[in-house]
Amino acid sequence: MKSEILSRSTEEKVLPVTLADIERAAARIAGRVRRTPLVYSGTLSERTGQPVHLKLETRQPIGAFKLRGAMNAILSLDDAARTCGLITASTGNHGRAVAYAARELGVPATICMSSLVPPNKVEAIRALGAEIRVVGRSQDDAQVEAERLTESRGLTPIPPFDDANVVAGQGTIGLEIMEALPDLATVLVPLSGGGLAGGIAVAVKALKPGVRVVGISMERGAAMHAAIAAGKPVAIREEETLADSLGGGVGLSNHVTFTLCRDLLDDILLLTEDEIAEGIRHAARQEDMTVEGAGAVGIAAILADKIALSGPTAVIISGGNIDPTLHQRIVAEAAT
Ligand SMILES: *Cc1c(COP(=O)(O)O)cnc(C)c1O
Repeated sequence: MKSEILSRSTEEKVLPVTLADIERAAARIAGRVRRTPLVYSGTLSERTGQPVHLKLETRQPIGAFKLRGAMNAILSLDDAARTCGLITASTGNHGRAVAYAARELGVPATICMSSLVPPNKVEAIRALGAEIRVVGRSQDDAQVEAERLTESRGLTPIPPFDDANVVAGQGTIGLEIMEALPDLATVLVPLSGGGLAGGIAVAVKALKPGVRVVGISMERGAAMHAAIAAGKPVAIREEETLADSLGGGVGLSNHVTFTLCRDLLDDILLLTEDEIAEGIRHAARQEDMTVEGAGAVGIAAILADKIALSGPTAVIISGGNIDPTLHQRIVAEAAT
């Protein structure tokens, strides 16, 4: 399925994040964030006839890549802003990342989240010592509360994706992949707010312009896809999905990731819930990995034959934080 919404123009683009920003981020976060393994997948390579490698962000200390962006953003603050304390609204992994980084750096953090966030994610953040506020039924409600506390308590916001330092941090994944796999042809990236896909696209395309970067979302609430189709960020209805970490909007006043994704992504694929479940199942049964819905969409897109690969491919396995009961149920089901 080729999206018709991603129009290309030949003019030079001035992008809000550069390769130099990402290289500085890599130096800044080195030693505090893990360089994750890139492992060859025999089953997916055999299936596609192309060498497929999995980038295991599940191996970060918080079980997801978001530590890269949060750590880079927090380390980029001046001392005054940092010691005031940090705040963010998050559907889970970003909150976990801010809580972890804050604890590592000895700074207080408050995390606002909606009541749709799964309990395992809430408890993980609480265990990292952050203050938690559960507000409303949507990411937007949580965001409003974070903005209120930013004003009333003078806390410093750490955004989940729409921030140049956060994007630069996520982009360090692209540097690591290019070092390990210089003949990279395609990257499959889970796509929500676009910090991950935007950062990786800047890095890999700066180092090798021909690399295809494909964003993958779920059909149920694909915010960046809707925004690019509309030509500007739009409000979307949030729906429950197995890829819960891909939920939420891109922000109506988005100033970094919308431009990056519109200008740099070569395609966006959308998946059904059954296809995502199949990705989770394959990861568990064939690759021996516990992967959450959002982390499994790259594998799912391959299994659903929604992408034709040519050349070495990297699939970003973005996170592994899934409710164990849900995971067990999905893995036990027969393939559809
Ligand atoms: C946040 C997240 C994503 C999407 O990242 P964006 O920068 O918002 O596009 C993908 N996978 C997991 C596991 C996440 O936590």
